[in-house]
Amino acid sequence: MKRFLNFIKDTPTAFHAAAKFKEVLKANNFIELFEGEEWQLKKGGKYFIGRNMSSILAFVVPKNDYYSFNITAAHLDSPTFKLKPNFTLEKGRYVKFNTEVYGGPIFSTWFDRPLGIAGRVIVAEKNGLSAKLVNLCEPLAMIPNLPIHYNRNVNKGVELNPQIDLLPLFADKNINDVKLLDLIAQRLNVKASDIVSSDLYLTNLDRGCLVGANKEFVMAPQIDNLECSYGLIEALINSESLNSVNVCVLFDNEEIGSSTMQGAAGSLLEDSLLRISRAFGYDYAKHLTFLANSFIVSADNAQGFHPNYPSKYDETNACYLNEGIVIKNAAKMSYATDAMSSAYFQQICKEANVKYQLTTNRSDIVGGSTIGSILVKNVSIPLVDIGLAQLAMHSAYETAGSLDLEYLIKAIQKFYTKSLKITAEVKFNY
Ligand SMILES: [Zn+2]
Repeated sequence: MKRFLNFIKDTPTAFHAAAKFKEVLKANNFIELFEGEEWQLKKGGKYFIGRNMSSILAFVVPKNDYYSFNITAAHLDSPTFKLKPNFTLEKGRYVKFNTEVYGGPIFSTWFDRPLGIAGRVIVAEKNGLSAKLVNLCEPLAMIPNLPIHYNRNVNKGVELNPQIDLLPLFADKNINDVKLLDLIAQRLNVKASDIVSSDLYLTNLDRGCLVGANKEFVMAPQIDNLECSYGLIEALINSESLNSVNVCVLFDNEEIGSSTMQGAAGSLLEDSLLRISRAFGYDYAKHLTFLANSFIVSADNAQGFHPNYPSKYDETNACYLNEGIVIKNAAKMSYATDAMSSAYFQQICKEANVKYQLTTNRSDIVGGSTIGSILVKNVSIPLVDIGLAQLAMHSAYETAGSLDLEYLIKAIQKFYTKSLKITAEVKFNY
């Protein structure tokens, strides 16, 4: 868990998380491929590609011929606020940032804390454009609360308007009229006038820590869903299957519905699987037989039982922190788990000696959505939706159980040893 906390201190956005995972993969002898080039693959090889700087797909080819794919998936983005194209908003002596909401943050958790700015900028160069990562991980802005004296009802619940209440304060220009773009240009060693456009987000500067009498809790920004992403990559790195290609894909934009080229509704997974088969000389019909033997584990954190609000949880299907991997179910298939995919994953957990628990939402609560049911539209194969239980989902600072990440890594390591054959419509041999 400490290694995870160390990892996520430099990953304030999906861009940074993807870049950091690329570093880790390279250090573990994975070779970088590009979508715009032909792929030369070797049996026993390890590879990865990125798409648009904020999604990543890594895979390990077995030494033998393969007949299926063992796929895991998660997302790299978290709820926050995005700076608008013309983000400078001057009100008298104060300079604020004009932002819009990204995903579904709990607004109140963003008040009264030092905030940084991170993302990417596009810089004009001699022969074109180039994207550069930016991480100003220093206190640059804050969203101050209104004093309680001006709203005596503040503790009874307040409606917050993102265009009024949530704009961060950046500068007092009577002191010095500093421009954010100048700060960024300075940091990147480029001219501010060469910065053409940007994808910049507010970031929480708080570091992660272990909490509780037994350090049984872990608190950090972006636990949803960097915790699962970290676990999946960790499991992939040393994986080896006899007859399956092991794949891990981490998407951007889950928090805003996934419908982007780098999101789960895009073609990254579908395209990559086909290109792997083509690189080994298999035709499309053969590739489809491989898909028919394949399985996806989609990992995204789950709403763990909150002791202050017991009435929010299903009476027989609540899940708990530190009680192992959560297998998510929903009759409307907003989680794509069915009896067969659940059973297969349960068997894997048992083999790996890992605790697991089954969950559904209460029938009168909608619950969240995730990438699983989106993925099966493009790659229509059995999928289990899993996650790790956490509290305060979509807070700027979330809480999870400190034991669960290890369970995830162990179970996925076991999953990656399998070579699944699905026969007779739904008979799983592994
Ligand atoms: Zn999530």
